[in-house]
Amino acid sequence: MKCLMFEEIGKLAPSEIPEPTYPVWIKVAATGICGTDLKSVYVGHRYFRPPTVLGHEFYGQICKAPEGYPLKNGTWVVAAPYYECGKCDYCKAGKGDLCENKNYVEAGSFAEYVGVPLDYMEGLFVLPEKKNTDDYDVYALTEPLACVINGTSRLETVPGYSKVLIVGGGPMGALFALYYASKGIEAAIVEPNDERAARLQSWGIKTVKQDQVQKGEYDNVVIAVNIAKLVSDYLPLVRHGGTLLVFSGLPKGESLDIDAGAIHYNEVSIKGCSGFGLDHFKESFSVIKANEKLFRQLITNKFDFEHGQQAFDMLKAGKAFKILIGSDINC
Ligand SMILES: [Zn+2]
Ligand SMILES: [Zn+2]
Repeated sequence: MKCLMFEEIGKLAPSEIPEPTYPVWIKVAATGICGTDLKSVYVGHRYFRPPTVLGHEFYGQICKAPEGYPLKNGTWVVAAPYYECGKCDYCKAGKGDLCENKNYVEAGSFAEYVGVPLDYMEGLFVLPEKKNTDDYDVYALTEPLACVINGTSRLETVPGYSKVLIVGGGPMGALFALYYASKGIEAAIVEPNDERAARLQSWGIKTVKQDQVQKGEYDNVVIAVNIAKLVSDYLPLVRHGGTLLVFSGLPKGESLDIDAGAIHYNEVSIKGCSGFGLDHFKESFSVIKANEKLFRQLITNKFDFEHGQQAFDMLKAGKAFKILIGSDINC
């Protein structure tokens, strides 16, 4: 089957790989490029080394399943790329995102098909019926929004009191802002690039510059850029009793220089999160279902595998928000 192969650092190309071996196949319609994919391709990632096929933010149609499988061929689904075992101590404590025994789809989704195990039903979500294939695109955002909802679950937002500041106006920062917009909570994004800020504003998102942020103005601050120093910079600005969330991946072993007094006297907490649990994925699916138009705006470009390299380069250059790639996309 066709795929977009991550061949070596900085290089992707259309290629052929063997078809799935798992019993249920999903014909992938489109896959979003994620920050982790970008990092894997240009910087390197210890889990995703080339040559390999990346991709995990996908939706498509069930196209092959054994007799008696609950979903008919042709059913449109979005699949969680993984979900927790439900049995371990973490899972029993409601911390499924930390489960060390997760269930996974077979392989990366920058490919024609993705195989899923027979007993993967909990990880599949049937999409509402649409006239055009493109109308399903927004569901490629289910996984990144699930990660964002994992983040928002760490923040306490009190209607009429809370204001959320998101540092970094990339796709994840924008998802945070749109999520809070859908919940009626005031949020703003710090985005230094004027072009990107203008795009965010066109979606109704408030943007500010770093030097405009006043101490105590925001009780929740989300660091959505992978620069450790931002944690030190923003911690003293968080409103007393508030929370700073380290959302973007920061390097292991890197130290932070933080104001200890902000934690004790200001009662500010620092929290982190990574990935998602099944409950976050479920909530993400229902939030998108209720706000398809709002979230659809984030998808700025679509490409086929032949233009995969171009798509990644474009995203790296900061010229797009969410880009989808698929074998049947015409571009
Ligand atoms: Zn992702
Ligand atoms: Zn578990």
